[in-house]
Parts: sequence; C-alpha cells; structure tokens
Amino acid sequence: MNSLNTVCPARQTFNPPFSRIYAEREALAHPRAAQVLSAFPASRVIVIDHYKDVFNRTHQSFYLQKQSQALILAVKKGTLIYPGAPFCQDFGNSHFYYTSSVMNCIYDCEYCYLQGMYPSGNLVLFLNLEDIFGEVRALLARHPVYLCVSYDTDLLALEGITGLVRDWIAFAGEHPDLTLEIRTKSAAFSRIADLAPLQNVILAWTLSPEAAARHEHRVPSPALRLQSALHALRAGWPVRLCFDPLLLLPDARNLYRTFIEEVFRTLPGDQILDIGIGPFRISTEYLKRIRRSRPACAILSYPFEVTDGSASYDRTAMHALMDEVCSLIAKYVNPDKIYRYEEDN
Ligand code: SF4
Repeated sequence: MNSLNTVCPARQTFNPPFSRIYAEREALAHPRAAQVLSAFPASRVIVIDHYKDVFNRTHQSFYLQKQSQALILAVKKGTLIYPGAPFCQDFGNSHFYYTSSVMNCIYDCEYCYLQGMYPSGNLVLFLNLEDIFGEVRALLARHPVYLCVSYDTDLLALEGITGLVRDWIAFAGEHPDLTLEIRTKSAAFSRIADLAPLQNVILAWTLSPEAAARHEHRVPSPALRLQSALHALRAGWPVRLCFDPLLLLPDARNLYRTFIEEVFRTLPGDQILDIGIGPFRISTEYLKRIRRSRPACAILSYPFEVTDGSASYDRTAMHALMDEVCSLIAKYVNPDKIYRYEEDN
C-alpha cells in the first residue's frame, strides 16, 4: 500500500490527493499550468472542456471526494471580484470585496460552509490571476480596496503548489491603496518568509482551542499555527487573529479561557494588528446539506436557532461566550482592535 494513501473507516484505501488532475484545454495553455503540473509528475492528467463538466456533476459525495481530492485546472470567466458577504467581517474597512482563485480547501473542517456551497469536494484552481488583477486595478481607479483573497479556500496552505500568495503580495506591493487579507489555518509562513513584509498585506490566522481543532481534520495544530503567526509577526507583517467560528462545545468558556492565555503567552498582544471574533453561523440550506453528508457529526447536531435563513447557536449562550472571549482578549489587546461579529450587523 502506498504510504500516502488514506484508509476510510471501511478499510478501503483512497488514492493520494491530486493523483488525478482535470485540466481545461484553455488552462493547459496557461503559463502557470506547467508549474503546477510539475509538482505532480505521477498524476494522471485528463483534458476537459470546462471545469463545471467535472465539478458541477450531480450526485457527488463531497465528503468522500475530500478523502482523495482531484485537482481541476481552469480559467475563471465572468465575475472575478465580489462584494464582501454579510456573513463576513469587514474590520472597519469600506469597499470590502473578496475573490477566490481557488474553490475548495485541502483541509477538512467539519463545520466548513464549503461542504454546503459546492457540489464537489474536488479543488478547482483558476490560473488566470492576471485577469483578477485587471479587475482590482479597475476598482482601485475608483477608490481604495480592501480585498480578502483566501476565502473559500486556504491559499497559504496551497502555496507550495500554486505560488499565488507570492503573486498577490507582489501585486499589493505595487498598489498601496489595496489592502489584502490572506486568511489561513496553515503553519506555512515559511513559504513566504523570504519576502519583505508589506503593511497593506494582513496575514490572518484562524485559531481554535485543541478541543475545537479536533473537528478540523488535516489542519496544523493550534500550537503550530501560533508559531507560524509568531514568525510572521517577528518578520514585521501585520498579523490578525480570528477566533471565528467560536464553537459552543461542552465547557466552552473554560476551553477558550485556557486557550486565550496560551495564545498570549506565545504572541505579544500589543503587536497584533487586530482580532476578529465570531460565532459559528451558517445558511440553513448549507447546514441541511452538510448534515446529510456528515450525519454523525456532533457539532452540527446542535439545536440551532434559525433567523432569516441563517442558523446559529441560541443567542443567550452565544452572547455569554462572546462576552467572555472579548473580555479575556481585552486583557492583552486594546479593545478598540477587537472586532466582534454581531448577527444584527
Ligand atoms: S480551513 Fe477554512 S476553508 Fe478550509 S476546510 Fe477549514 S473552514 Fe473550510
């Protein structure tokens, strides 16, 4: 058995990730394609007309595909930049946008909304970053832009394959009116550690206590994420910490108290750019789909409250936890730098 293979509960083995690569004809002609394919010399490449022919098929199992992800190389058409979604925090920025040059993630968090959003667990990599840059330039001609580039994926976790974070940083270096947020749960700061820090590129780590991280499969441990954030901070990068989503686990208040103490034993709170805090929240439609594919998942079995198509924990318990987490963090970080997601925003 190949040591890279993973074993499912039924003891069947899965192929290693990206052992199959689907590539649109147009994507294959893109200069970035050769660089990506060179990382997978043993993979089988299947030429397709359009990524949706593979990604949007019906009756796919997101969960099973995640155990053996295929990579799909594509060229993005149509809308490339979107206004920031109401579920996401803007950290006080106006002109808030996001873009996704990757659909899906190599990690497998049980609560991840992507499981409800996408029909497939495979990973689509759009190669035409220069077209996205063109749209950002057009926006910048009108006003400053705050752009999140690592939603719907974890871009830094993929840096060894894609090099997209480097390209975004180079682009941000030429456009001081652009502020980028690159959010990650990876421990991969070393991939960009040779670059000079930019004050308009925010590296944002999502942090979770150990008990919550047990529901985040294949994700580096909280301690490794903290070390990576520490290296970024020491190198002079603006570092944001995201305690989002907070999970209402048994004994949650104690779990988060102990964890926040650990975080600020490692990281100097006065050097952190800012902090985002938000409860678990998800569209009811997505939640329904995820529960179907993960029927035994305890954290999705909570009796959520539903308001306007959005499911979240009961408000009293969640507000108590949010209050506690905010006041604990305020011991280390100026409260003005703490951004709290409120359902009513
Ligand atoms: S790291 Fe984020 S995008 Fe990736 S699986 Fe986890 S929640 Fe989803």
